[in-house]
Amino acid sequence: METRILPPTNENLDLAARILAAGGLVGLPTETVYGLAADARNAKAALSVFAAKGRPADNPLIVHISDISQLKDVARDVPRRAQVLLRRFWPGPLTMILPKDPAIPPEVTAGLDTVAVRFPAHPAARALIDRSGPLAAPSANLSGRPSTTTAQHVYHDLHGRIPLILDGGPCEVGLESTVVDLSRGPAVLLRPGGVTREMLEEALGEPVALGKGVMEPLPEGEKALSPGLKHKHYAPKARVVVVLGTDKARASYVRKHAKEDAAPCVLCLEENRALYGGLPALDAGRKPEDYAHNLFAALREADARGYTAVYAEGLSLFGVGLAVMNRVERAAGFAVVRADEEDEEKEDRP
Ligand code: AMP
Ligand code: MG
Repeated sequence: METRILPPTNENLDLAARILAAGGLVGLPTETVYGLAADARNAKAALSVFAAKGRPADNPLIVHISDISQLKDVARDVPRRAQVLLRRFWPGPLTMILPKDPAIPPEVTAGLDTVAVRFPAHPAARALIDRSGPLAAPSANLSGRPSTTTAQHVYHDLHGRIPLILDGGPCEVGLESTVVDLSRGPAVLLRPGGVTREMLEEALGEPVALGKGVMEPLPEGEKALSPGLKHKHYAPKARVVVVLGTDKARASYVRKHAKEDAAPCVLCLEENRALYGGLPALDAGRKPEDYAHNLFAALREADARGYTAVYAEGLSLFGVGLAVMNRVERAAGFAVVRADEEDEEKEDRP
């Protein structure tokens, strides 16, 4: 199958809508990451999303809407807390888990009686949903790989498997949406993202719990609240190590250990580049929001440039830092080191 990359003009949006109506798949820009979209009411189309990505069958898809009025066709109930959050954060990078309406086939939700719903802000995504109705879409990458934040990334992973990618340029947020469960009372944060935990707490006026397994590996045999959490995720071919600690401690840890790698590089904020003794650097930008925006592109670039190891600077777990660390720790298979200044200094002495 030939895969075309086209701009989201009215004509091309009409073409995309025809593909979706026939049960086909379309690569779609959103403000978070690119999505691999299918008609959310078509069970067969949903199954072909799983096939195209190589996605495990137990990892449910997010249903995307372009108008609050579509919520009644997707969710059986919209609890009070969900109403507060949708008024505040939609359209935007927030996904809410709600009781599922029977119109959504079990293939979309991997058999769960809840459904994940998001109202994206990206104009091309909204224009396509306006034409097609609710779309089920996971991130448009091969399962396990970093999510895609440009149309070219989508092409790299999925060409030959889908007929069309709409090119809306690089994604603004760069990380997948925040996922929050509202189906069983108090909100539980299942995946941090652009809408931060602090923002949710402020809107709800109460603390928001972090789901089990969000910031640490789930214990063997434990059931994940969000099935996608338990799968291997976001990983480039290069080995990734997350390095925490003071500037000095990180610098000496990385300089010492990078010697053992064939082709090492660092992923760091611009201001820290000089710390790492001339190691090649992947650009995380100037601030945590830039790190979020650049992370997946940087991990893909590490593979394109043939690096074998990526030493990624850690961030503190506030604001969007929590989302960045959630992704980069998974990309690293939870290989996180806290570099200790005193140890390193002792080791450096003769
Ligand atoms: P992706 O489509 O790659 O952005 O991943 C979607 C995420 O949302 C995965 O981690 C899913 O497990 C999660 N998700 C989707 N639907 C549900 C649901 N009904 N309950 C809990 N988590 C969900
Ligand atoms: Mg994904």
